[in-house]
Amino acid sequence: MDSQIQDLLAQVATLRQEVETLQREKTELALMMEMSTEHADNVTNELQALTERLEKRATQLEASSQVGQLVTAFLSLDGLLPEVVEGIQAKFGYYFVGIFLLGEQDVLTLQAGHRQGSRRQLEMGLAIPLNSPRSIVLAACQAGRYYLAADTRTDPQYLAWQDMPGTRSELALPLRIGPKILGVLDIQSEHPAAFETEDIRVLQTLADQVAIAIRNAQLYAEVVRFNEQLEHLVQQRTAELDKAYRVLERMDKTKTDFITVAAHELRTPLTLIKGYAQLLGPMIQDDPQIQSLVEGILAGQGRLHEVVNSLLDVTKIGSHALALHKEPTVLAEIVSNLHSAFEATLQERQLTLSTACLETLPVVMADPDMMFKLLNHLLINAIKYTPDGGSITIEASLIPSNAGAGLGEHVQLVVSDTGIGIDPEHHELIFEKFYQAESARLHSSGKTKFKGGGPGLGLAIAKGIVDAHGGRIWVESSGRDEVSCPGSAFHVLLPVGNH
Ligand code: ADP
Repeated sequence: MDSQIQDLLAQVATLRQEVETLQREKTELALMMEMSTEHADNVTNELQALTERLEKRATQLEASSQVGQLVTAFLSLDGLLPEVVEGIQAKFGYYFVGIFLLGEQDVLTLQAGHRQGSRRQLEMGLAIPLNSPRSIVLAACQAGRYYLAADTRTDPQYLAWQDMPGTRSELALPLRIGPKILGVLDIQSEHPAAFETEDIRVLQTLADQVAIAIRNAQLYAEVVRFNEQLEHLVQQRTAELDKAYRVLERMDKTKTDFITVAAHELRTPLTLIKGYAQLLGPMIQDDPQIQSLVEGILAGQGRLHEVVNSLLDVTKIGSHALALHKEPTVLAEIVSNLHSAFEATLQERQLTLSTACLETLPVVMADPDMMFKLLNHLLINAIKYTPDGGSITIEASLIPSNAGAGLGEHVQLVVSDTGIGIDPEHHELIFEKFYQAESARLHSSGKTKFKGGGPGLGLAIAKGIVDAHGGRIWVESSGRDEVSCPGSAFHVLLPVGNH
């Protein structure tokens, strides 16, 4: 019995021990469970904080890219700045956002500002001179880096604004292009320590974008201003030119009127001189000396008559009053007549005149008198500007119609010489009336003498005649050289015309 009790007591003791062990283990387990719950809570909290921060960053980045897009949409500062401040204020939810720009007078001026919940009621033009004793905006501008007032109540630079009673922290970011500071982006919050390091980084990136947009807008404004000035200048110059043109036009008309009147007035006395000189003829038959004097008078009268006729031709061309009497004309005949007329002169100057292919030309519809004048002027010039012993050629060709270019059948005449040539700079001007490529003083006198003087009308008349026939005239010459004599070639295109 005793031994049974002893066994039972031993078993009870063992059981007690086991129970104690179990209880200890249970306490340990409970402790462990408590600890892991706490750990799990911590991890959950950390995760939540991290998620919140990530969400905040994502929102900030999205807002930043939206404002960034806005920045590129405006070309003028007036449109850009209000949109930027309103955009940053609305997207980031700050209490106030403003942009100050640095002006020429060394003053920072509020150009745009937007406060939470308010409309654009802020008084613009708030100015901060660069010598102000305290200003957060100024501090950022002068340092060229951001200035953060985490608690405006204790910050030494903070100066309260009347319009912003709720400000508790403020961040001023410089608007910079390289080393140049354009102004400051000022952001205020109703919460103290509202700007974390990461916020500042995002906002400075945004400020850099805004600075570029401001610079672009300033450059654009400069270009617009420059364009306006230029346009004004162009208008002014055009008006001046217009006035000068009118004066020239009036002077040209006066000149033409004078030439017409003078030419007409000269004709009568010239006819009288010719008449009286011819009357003298029978009376001086026996006096060869006086006869040669009278011949001289008649030659001079003839030359003057030609000049007067040229003057009248040129005034008619100028006023588009050249009357053409077109008829089927054989150019070869006209050239042959001219050849005979100049025979003596050509011999005297030892010049040879040859023609080529003239006989192959078709009959053209043209005014024969005008064709004579045209070729006469070209031939006189070829004679005048070719030294003794040279040669002159009149070459003809037929240019078939080119329907594609809208051109009918044309004849081409090329009057070329082995003369002194013409500098390219004069190639167009010599067709203007009274234009002479050389100073008139250098000319010798005489109609067909080498470099003989002329009134500068021959080519103007030639061009007028060609134009009136619907043709073209131009010169080809490599330049002027009295020693090597490169020569000139005058090209004339004349439509064959309908018969
Ligand atoms: P001008 O009465 O002076 O000859 P033109 O109108 O006939 O007037 O010619 C204008 C200018 O063109 C001339 O002064 C001359 O300098 C130049 N010129 C014309 N034809 C020739 C030519 N065949 N060779 C060289 N120069 C020429």
